[in-house]
Amino acid sequence: MAISNQVTQSAPANVIPVTCPADGRVVGSIPVQTADDVAAVAERLRAAQPEWEALGSQGRGKWLGRWRDWILDNRLELLETVQAEGGKSWGDATIEALAAVEAINYNVKVAARQLRDDHPSPAGIANRLKRLTVSHRAYPLVGLITPWNYPLAMPMLDCPAALMAGCAVLSKPSELTPLSWIAAVEGWNQIGAPDVLEAVTGAGAAGAAVVDAVDMVQFTGSTATGRKVGARAGERLIPASLELGGKDAMIVLADADIERATNGAVWGAFFNAGQSCTAVERVYVESVVYDQFLDRLVAKTLNLRAGMDRPGRYATDFGALATEEQIRIVERHVEEARAAGARTLTGGKRTGDGNVYEATVLVDVGNDMACMREETFGPTLPVMRVADSDEAVRLANDSTYGLSASVWSKDQAKARAVARRLNVGAVNINSVMMNVFQFPIPQAGWITSGVGARAGANGVVKYTRPQAIVSDLVEMKSEIFWYPHTSRLGALQERAVSLLGARDMRRRLRGPKR
Ligand code: ADP
Repeated sequence: MAISNQVTQSAPANVIPVTCPADGRVVGSIPVQTADDVAAVAERLRAAQPEWEALGSQGRGKWLGRWRDWILDNRLELLETVQAEGGKSWGDATIEALAAVEAINYNVKVAARQLRDDHPSPAGIANRLKRLTVSHRAYPLVGLITPWNYPLAMPMLDCPAALMAGCAVLSKPSELTPLSWIAAVEGWNQIGAPDVLEAVTGAGAAGAAVVDAVDMVQFTGSTATGRKVGARAGERLIPASLELGGKDAMIVLADADIERATNGAVWGAFFNAGQSCTAVERVYVESVVYDQFLDRLVAKTLNLRAGMDRPGRYATDFGALATEEQIRIVERHVEEARAAGARTLTGGKRTGDGNVYEATVLVDVGNDMACMREETFGPTLPVMRVADSDEAVRLANDSTYGLSASVWSKDQAKARAVARRLNVGAVNINSVMMNVFQFPIPQAGWITSGVGARAGANGVVKYTRPQAIVSDLVEMKSEIFWYPHTSRLGALQERAVSLLGARDMRRRLRGPKR
């Protein structure tokens, strides 16, 4: 049974039904909000923001702490919604609560330190008596547009940082999986928190209306939509931070721990049915361990259980693809690869239940095939034999994407050396996808995988604008370059240029050529 969007055709035009892609059940619906609706919400949030910013990071942190507690208390219900609207396995769904509370706790912890005023030393002797201050002032309203693959965790990777920065947040979850985030925002309201967080609903037009209403936008989604968001943000002259697609390579060197590497490959490729921007999408294995790697990989892949289980059961490993369109991309990549001579060692077809596709290992693939070049976002794992690490690096870098990658070797120094040659924003050594959960380091896609970064040393500060304040430690009645110009002051200035600017004695004493 394929789940298509047929249901939407019979629904009223101003409502979008939300269906479970694993069994086609309608699990809820959302109103399609107009640009005017979105603008009205934006105005409401803007009105509440100054007071929110004035609370200071400690005051804001208290509200986020209460929100975390609400999420912890209500997490089973939230996860059931995540599972139902995403068609996930229960095990895959549960990671979202962990990510949500971790992201809140981390941003609450670091916000005060990141937002503290800086007092850099003035540059040069002439500025010695200046006092310099840089303060971080929140963008009043941040737009947060998110995709469907992690309905709760994805907005949580950014929302707590923006709130802790002192911003109000106008969020727009994906129309395919909006319910979990709407429930989380309801939680914010239930604890009685200030009116600085709202979720608006609808499809692309509602997202575009968000971009039109905010002072800064944080977008996560496809590269194609990210381009549109970036272009509109450019027109409006507002900053856009974009987390986009990826085609992450896994490089397995000859001295890798094959047991761990194959476990990592299976999880990295098939977790959430491969619907992660940082999923392992292609593997390059050094020739000497290729057969061994493949044997273990195939055996472990055959053990995977595809499909959606019941809440709390942990009876399947990964669930459905979000849409019929998504499953067709997977089918096209597999079919084109087969037509060009590739073989599927496992899977290669739908299971027959909902939008579930079998875990598929592909071999005899070429780097020019769609399955190796385009983002698949599905449960496929093409594996290629390479002669050595040089070939692996060359093929891995032959991509328009630059999100992340992994390198597998028992020799840390060797793995790090390979990592530094990869054109990607993050590299995991002997692991996969873990960089996303390391909040102290930046998550930044290179090339068409993104612009800007989330998390890292500036994870909270990025939602603020620097305000520079300059004052004098000693105030005289006038400064030497203030009016009126006189030859006495002019001569003094000329002397000063030589004395302060020159780095050799001759120029310091001589002055300019006459
Ligand atoms: P995916 O969910 O496949 O990654 P998108 O990148 O299209 O797909 O969607 C990510 C988010 O962007 C969704 O919430 C979607 O509604 C929203 N969106 C789609 N088109 C636009 C647009 N033109 N401007 C702003 N947001 C959009």
